[in-house]
Amino acid sequence: MSHYEILDQRFKALINGQAKLEHLWSGGRWTEGPVYVPAARHLVWSDIPNDRIMRYDEVGGVANIFQTPCGHHNGHTLDHEGRIIACEHSGRRVSRLDHDGEWRTLADRFEGKRLNSPNDVVVKSDGSIWFSDPTYGIDSDYEGYAALSEIGASNVYRIDPGDGSLSLMASDLVKPNGLAFSGDEKTLYVSDTGATHVQGLPAALRAYPVGGDGHSLGQGRLFATCEAGLFDGFRVDRHGNIFASSEDSVRVYAPDGKLIGRILVPECVSNLCFGGPRRNRLYITATTSLYAIYVNSGPALR
Ligand code: MG
Repeated sequence: MSHYEILDQRFKALINGQAKLEHLWSGGRWTEGPVYVPAARHLVWSDIPNDRIMRYDEVGGVANIFQTPCGHHNGHTLDHEGRIIACEHSGRRVSRLDHDGEWRTLADRFEGKRLNSPNDVVVKSDGSIWFSDPTYGIDSDYEGYAALSEIGASNVYRIDPGDGSLSLMASDLVKPNGLAFSGDEKTLYVSDTGATHVQGLPAALRAYPVGGDGHSLGQGRLFATCEAGLFDGFRVDRHGNIFASSEDSVRVYAPDGKLIGRILVPECVSNLCFGGPRRNRLYITATTSLYAIYVNSGPALR
């Protein structure tokens, strides 16, 4: 069985037909938030309902628990010092794992009100940290702890690299979720999974122009609509293509927004990231499992 669906010849250059989808681990309830840590040659990801962070040692090929409980982590990324930045559902904060092993708070309030449940996070070249804050971690006791939103909205925020202050960057999404910059950082892509709360809402990936100052956003536009499930997490590759999660596959979109191909996955995909020493191994979190597949591409940044 082929692991690929080629819809446009451009997709052929991004895949290795010899490469098979590898199943690396199962046992989670809802896996999410993968981040590759080059210095450790391991992948760290979340198993949100089980309130644990997992780790896959790609040298030994072994998965085990990194930390539990953890504040129901969701998305992860690395900062420029190689430290893990985390979104915590029940912790209701964005935190950083410092070199001494302590998780320290980077943001937990906006204008004095508690954040909802930070979902996904990305670091810009200037050191600013951008994250989404929908309500999935306070909607019930499954992926966090049920609570009312103090802010009353689901927004995208930026943490200033200088003074750590929080700024509101986007407020026009129903449930902002995954986010990533284009390689030139002129565009911020954000997925909107608002269909989970508003019936009939399209599952959208939106593109925002980043202002010349590097810390403002212009009017967002619709970049792509998901035909199967929702776009949750996604990554931009070095050619400007978007590798996006969906219900049945990793969907790959060219910079012009056209769906050019799919990598088929037997479980609902939540998120993905590039890893391996050459960054050409696509790690995929999908419902209960962790998968990986080698591709002919790598991340836009780092
Ligand atoms: Mg997410």
